[in-house]
Order: sequence, then C-alpha cells, then structure tokens
Amino acid sequence: MSKQVVFDAVESERDRLFELATTLWENPELGMREYDAVERLQGILREEGFDVEESVAEIETAFLARYGEGDPVVGVLGEYDALPDLSQAVTAERDPLEEGAPGHGCGHNLFATGSLGAALGAKRAIERGDVSGTIVYFGTPAEELGVGKPYMISDGAFDDVDAVLSWHPGWYSSASRQRCLALDSLRFEFTGEASHAGAAPEAGRSALDAVQVMNVGVEFMREHVPDNARIHYAIEDAGAAPNVVDPNASVLYTVRAPTRVSVDEMSEWLHDVARGAALITQTDVESTYRGGMYGVLPNDTLADVIDANMQAVGGFDLPADDRQLAAELKATIDGVEGRIEQLPAEHRDDAREQPMLTDAIPSFDGDELGTYSTDTGNVSWVVPVGRSQAATWPVGTPAHSWQAVAASGSVGRHAAVFVAKALAGGLYDLLDDPEIVAAAQAEFESAAAGTGYEETLPEVDPSELAAD
Ligand SMILES: [Zn+2]
Repeated sequence: MSKQVVFDAVESERDRLFELATTLWENPELGMREYDAVERLQGILREEGFDVEESVAEIETAFLARYGEGDPVVGVLGEYDALPDLSQAVTAERDPLEEGAPGHGCGHNLFATGSLGAALGAKRAIERGDVSGTIVYFGTPAEELGVGKPYMISDGAFDDVDAVLSWHPGWYSSASRQRCLALDSLRFEFTGEASHAGAAPEAGRSALDAVQVMNVGVEFMREHVPDNARIHYAIEDAGAAPNVVDPNASVLYTVRAPTRVSVDEMSEWLHDVARGAALITQTDVESTYRGGMYGVLPNDTLADVIDANMQAVGGFDLPADDRQLAAELKATIDGVEGRIEQLPAEHRDDAREQPMLTDAIPSFDGDELGTYSTDTGNVSWVVPVGRSQAATWPVGTPAHSWQAVAASGSVGRHAAVFVAKALAGGLYDLLDDPEIVAAAQAEFESAAAGTGYEETLPEVDPSELAAD
C-alpha cells in the first residue's frame, strides 16, 4: 500500500525530472567542473527539505543531501559529469551541436536525475510517517576520472551509511550482481639529454627511446598477467622534432585486473619495466600515481531488493515519436546482435524486434565479470552497494557513443523515471525493514572478509585532474 505511494510520488515528479534531465544534457560539464549541475540538484533537494552539505572532501562539485533522522541511513548515488568531444544533437546521425564540446555519452544527466527522483520518492514515505530513518543523496563528481568517490570515502562521507543503492544508464533494465575490474592509473616521465640528432647523437640520451622500450617491455609482460587483466597506454609527450634527441617524454598507463591485489602486483611490475627502460636508455624516470579503483563487490541482498522493485514497477511506456527515434538510432549501431546475446535467451527476440527494452529483465548477470571499472567499486568496499541499470538507450547502444548522447537527451528520460521508482521502492524497503539492512551488512562483512579498504587517491591535487 505505502509502496504505491512511493511510486506515485516519483510519478508526480515526472515533469520536473524530465526537465532536469534535459537541462543537464543541454549543459554538459566535464568532471570536477559540474558547477551548474550541482547547483540545480542542490536547489531541488533544498526546496524539498534536504540538508545539503556542500564541497565534501574540499571538492566544489561533491555534496551530500540528507533527509530524515536516525537509523537506518540509506543512500543513493548520483553522477553528473560529461565526456569530452561527444557533443551530439538529438538525431539519428552523427551531428555535433558544437564541434569538440563535451556530451553526455555515459548518460550521467539521467543518472543524476533518476537518483534524485528516487530520493524524492522515498522522502515522501518518511514525510508521511510510513517509515523512519535517513536518506542521503550522494552527489559524486568526476566519475569518468574515477576520483570523486574515493575522495568522498576518504573524507568520511560514507562512514555512517548502512546501505547504498545505485544504477547506471544502459540498454536493458535489470538489477546487477556483476563484478568488474579494479584499476590503477599511472604516469611515467622520462628525462634524458637533448642534443643534435645528426651532429652529436652520442651526446644525447633519448627519453622517447625510453618510452618505446618501456612499451615493448610491457608487451612482453602481457602474457604473464592474470586472465581478464588489461593494460593500455597513451604516449602523452613524445617530442616535436626528429633532429632533436628528445630530452622529455612521458606515457600514461592504465592497468586493470579482477582483484585489487592483482592490480597492485601489475603496477609494481610496470615500475620495474620503467626502471629497466631508464637503465637501458641511460635516462631517469619518475612515476606519478593518478588514482585507482576497486572492482565492485556485489551485494545479493540489495540486488534482490532492486530486482523485486523493478519487477513491481514493471517497465515504462515509450511514446510513438520516441520509439521512432530509438529505432533509427538502433539502426546506426554496429555489433548489436553480439550484445543481444549477452541477454538470457528468452529476451533476445524482443531485443531484436524492439528499439528499446521497456520491460525490466530479472537479474541474470550474477556470474559475470564486466571488464570496465567504476569508482562505485570503491564505495562497495566500504558500505554494501546494490547496483542496477536501466534501459535509457536503444538496444545494444555502447556507452560513450554519439548514439548514447542522442538517446540521453531524449528517449532515455522514460527509463530514468522508471529506475527512480524502482530505487525509491528499494530505499523504502530498507527503511521499512531493518532486517534487510542487517542482512546486506552481514553479506558485505562476509564477502569483504576483513580485506579492508586502502585509499587509492591520486598523488596530485584533485583539481589538477579536471579533464580539458
Ligand atoms: Zn558512466
């Protein structure tokens, strides 16, 4: 009975949520610079009686908003950063609104909005006196840089929180039990000696040679890392003129693996390779840790809560014009069939026929390891986290694509309201039944098994990590 009140409360916010999602989409802001998004989100939360704590961890775009009092304390995560160079109009062909400008290719405008809707819906139940406890909306910046949540954890933002629910835009709606890869991000800077490459090469020592030797060394390391590990690099600085022995060169590395321990070991090995490259080329090397992430520690108890609420809400309606746009977008995407095969067999025909999967699919990814990384992983090692995704995008749409941007500014809003209802229902269940919270925590304790949490903060000031 009361649960329906929560769903209805979200439904009554539909216009406001649609408008917010659109406004955030129209003004995409890169990580650590999401000033406008944060002002709008905080504005609505204040208006609704939430206590807002600004600039958490001394990051201007990190915030908390609390409603209610006492236990349990249940949270919902919001993200709102955009991606560089993904500006795109709401249309089914590549058409940047502004060449080179950012765009919401990960749908974080919807992420922020759907989670806000969840907080508002659950708030209504506290307001009515149906349940008691505290709701926290976590305004988490710079997910694409992977540093917002680690700083918030370090600042104690999650210390008094009992459980957290979250979601992410995607192309089907389902509670998730999937794990993903832990990650480290590193920079290696080599310094040599400049000299005329033709007239006096013997007087020079090339930092660019060192970067190349390092990269070759890493290619030989690849065979001997754990299954599902990933190593990628980008040469950041590689000189400008062939006739100068390059005195400065640097390379960025990302390493990923299924466990934090494996990532630590691979990072150590990378340092050895870098030192070896410096030795071979008679250059010097310095490394900088640019931050790390944990793989997600799934929580079945909380996944069950989201799963049940997604089934209770059922799905969403897709108006004819949105259906048309979604179909046109879907037709432009490569590799859709391969992605459809990730679904349980009984949902594949629907995925082939429909432009979007409007009905929730029972959770099915329990044995899977996603090869992405997210700083929600860090949160999942300090507090139980329930994760999910919702079908904001046409079937098979990859994240960080122009199609994802177009859909996030249009057809995706229906799923944001759908997931707001499901997560509002989930928050309601946690507030209503302390035993679920206790079960989630017991599962968390046993899964983490005393592993503990070690900070993965970058060695540089967070403001320096803002993407240009
Ligand atoms: Zn994302």
